[in-house]
Amino acid sequence: MVRRVAVVGAGVSGLAAIKCCREEGLEPTCFERSEDIGGLWRYAEHAEEGRASIYRTVFTNSCKEMMCYPDFPFPDDHPNYMHNTKLQDYIWKFAEHFDLLRHIRFKTLVTKIKKRPDFSVTGQWDVVTEKDGKKETEVFDAVMICSGHHVYPNFPAASFPGIQKFKGSYFHSREYKEPGKFRGKKVLVIGLGNSGCDIAVELSTVASQVYVSSRSGSWVMSRVWEHGYPWDMKIVTRFQTWLGTVLPRALSDWLYVRRMNWPFKHENFGLMPLDGTLRKEPVFNDDLPSRIACGVVVVKPNVKEFRETSVLFQDGTVQEDVDVVIFATGYSFSYPFMEDNSIIKVKDNVTLYKSILPPQLEKPTLAVIGLVQSLGAIIPTSDLQCRWAVKVFQGRQEDLGFKKKGGGGEYEKYVQCSPVFIFLSPQRYGSSNTLQMDYVSYMDELATAIGVKPNLPKLLLTDPRLALEVFFGPCTPYQFRLMGPGKWSGARRAILTQWDRTLG
Ligand code: FAD
Repeated sequence: MVRRVAVVGAGVSGLAAIKCCREEGLEPTCFERSEDIGGLWRYAEHAEEGRASIYRTVFTNSCKEMMCYPDFPFPDDHPNYMHNTKLQDYIWKFAEHFDLLRHIRFKTLVTKIKKRPDFSVTGQWDVVTEKDGKKETEVFDAVMICSGHHVYPNFPAASFPGIQKFKGSYFHSREYKEPGKFRGKKVLVIGLGNSGCDIAVELSTVASQVYVSSRSGSWVMSRVWEHGYPWDMKIVTRFQTWLGTVLPRALSDWLYVRRMNWPFKHENFGLMPLDGTLRKEPVFNDDLPSRIACGVVVVKPNVKEFRETSVLFQDGTVQEDVDVVIFATGYSFSYPFMEDNSIIKVKDNVTLYKSILPPQLEKPTLAVIGLVQSLGAIIPTSDLQCRWAVKVFQGRQEDLGFKKKGGGGEYEKYVQCSPVFIFLSPQRYGSSNTLQMDYVSYMDELATAIGVKPNLPKLLLTDPRLALEVFFGPCTPYQFRLMGPGKWSGARRAILTQWDRTLG
């Protein structure tokens, strides 16, 4: 029987893990290497080893109604999109409200996680931690890895010809904090992802010129969408997901490209993705098109070669006197504490059943939380992943669709039971091959397995107003705490008042 669960990291996923363990009567112990909760969202003046690092002006791309913990809405006075300090404030309120802090051991680094010798029978793990130079080993029945995936930079500078000759400075966007020291400089940003676009736009207010180089373009979306509503409340709906499944592919591709080009035609701004119909994760930036239109940000193709003070691009153009190059080239996944790294990561790929469980383990007692890319927000995704994983830990595999060998109750290789999501690490930001999953379908898959998917036909008969909002309205996190185990009594009201809080 699983009782003691080790949680690695106290970011938003780690907090969800602690809460879900508690709800199911398990004993979580969370290890956090830093002195605070919040993970990526806790801003620091300098990048800290092993923790995600953000710039001072990071705002959320997901709006408050779509991004909250499903039983803990944001305070009414919060804006739809939040500065990192506001989100950090909310994360603290959440942890205090649910009394999660007492389960966290701060300044405690997990250095090793390894199977115990009798793992095939017990499924137990040895977890080695280090605090103030003192090592300790403890035995846990299960482990939830919530260590984040925006930590280890993908920094391909060496693969660019001529970079050794380049006399300007260059660094990864992880090190970027604020624009002051770039006043009057010519800056090249490589990568058209969220960080690359944010940094380019911010620098364009002080730098003498900013260039953005992209190999394959990106869809750039605005947070402020149709009629001024948050983009995600308009787009991430059950109705839209259903349309995507019933329309012929060609029509759905056409509609997709049309929708992406609705605010401005990407082709006219040099931003058009090479494969426009590929549902690549879009970039959210309200200002980039206008910065390009004003000429303070210039979009360039891929870099062909660096020279001493200039840069040659693939289209043959040369930019002289470039002072600084920022590689906004994304991150790669790493789990340095796993004794057997191949449990999660094989070469540069991560293969996880339901994007959570490493498939080849004899016992399903290790879960990776938050390692997903979708149009949906991470907080509700992590919450549902944790609820699912905890059920698996408790031996409810059969209920969750796992096969058993010969009916004897022995655990069968679950990799054979259902499709496996494979993540490929990005080569360069903006050209990520990461498998983009559909948020609503993924959430419903997990929700169905643990009996918490909203029952629409039943709702239509008993509460038609709610049913219509659940189907046509935004797929807000509250929907996954509306019924079944873990139900929150405030969910119905939260759904029916979500637009009021958005406009408020
Ligand atoms: P993290 O926040 O990275 O937390 C991991 C924690 O684990 C850290 O506290 C770290 O110190 C700790 N840790 C790591 N290793 C160890 C160890 N060995 N021992 C002990 N502790 C350890 N997502 C959204 O949903 N909406 C957004 O608007 C959004 N905006 C983003 C903007 C930017 C610029 C970036 C980079 C990402 C954004 N994301 C967004 C995605 C983001 O990753 C998630 O919002 C979220 O922060 C991930 O939380 P996490 O808890 O999984 O990981």
